[in-house]
Amino acid sequence: MDDVFDLEEDRVKREIVQRKARRVLIQLPEGLRGQLFKIVETVESTGAEAFVSGDPCYGACDLPLEEAEKLNVDLIIHYGHTELLSEVGFPVVYVKAKARTPVSGVVKKSLSLLEKYDVIGLTTTAQHLDRLSEAVKALKEGGKEVLIGDSKGALHPGQVLGCDYRNALAISDGVDAFLFIGGGRFHALGIALSTRKPTYVADPFTGSVYSVNEEADKVIRQRFACILEARNAETIAVIVGLKPGQFRLDLAMKAAEEFKKKGKRTSILTLRELSPEVLSQFPSIDAFVNTACPRVSIDDVSRFIPVLTVSESLVVLGRLTWEELCQRGLFLDVSWRS
Ligand code: SF4
Repeated sequence: MDDVFDLEEDRVKREIVQRKARRVLIQLPEGLRGQLFKIVETVESTGAEAFVSGDPCYGACDLPLEEAEKLNVDLIIHYGHTELLSEVGFPVVYVKAKARTPVSGVVKKSLSLLEKYDVIGLTTTAQHLDRLSEAVKALKEGGKEVLIGDSKGALHPGQVLGCDYRNALAISDGVDAFLFIGGGRFHALGIALSTRKPTYVADPFTGSVYSVNEEADKVIRQRFACILEARNAETIAVIVGLKPGQFRLDLAMKAAEEFKKKGKRTSILTLRELSPEVLSQFPSIDAFVNTACPRVSIDDVSRFIPVLTVSESLVVLGRLTWEELCQRGLFLDVSWRS
């Protein structure tokens, strides 16, 4: 496990020394927490003091700015994601934690699933970006045409995030199917929901290849059920996420206003972490509109209570039809960062 990810120790040390940082706050996603001591010791070897943020971290939208201020650190080092927020008013160094695992073998294996498609859209996360050319070669040798999307946004060509599939959408009309290179179903499911194209995973860590198409259809049925349930709600809470990259107060206030006009009793609820446990503490609320991380609505909480994304709330408000939502793949509010 130790060598799976490139933790760029030399660059990290250089950044600390060049910036003359004396106190450093380290932020790690769950998958890298096993590397805690290795990273702490890298930081300490420069003579700087190291602190590790223990709160959950799911993306670069969630920089620990308040902690950094309280701890009076000079630098945040964020692992596992690329930069998402510009001008946060604090120095941040991003370490992608590139996977060293080769991808050509698993991509070749995926050719059996991609047999009926000619043009493949290739996508991945920060961890495998440097290996995209290896994947392109393997697909081309298998007789496929390959497209990699570049929407000219904050992400690198071909890169997707849990809430940003613009690079996939940029090429969606020109491809027959998508191949996602990376671990787990999470991002591939987002591609399938956003593009409505057949989507497959080539997981370099496990060597497995599989489709997420049935799962995407199931999620869409669940979303429809949530929207129907929310239509009958008498009370609605609009959630404002307090994490730096999830804070959309204006949008939440606008949504709350519209629901009030529709005769719903409406409140704005501010939260850092959204979970079924937290929401169950508000039994007087029939449905939620989530302006924070859209994946929490889709993946985590809506099995228990309707938690709509912003686009889905527009269907309840009658400003968007269900068919338009499906056709435009708006489940994840993909354009909300633009
Ligand atoms: S908003 Fe959600 S999906 Fe988007 S980067 Fe943050 S944690 Fe990931």
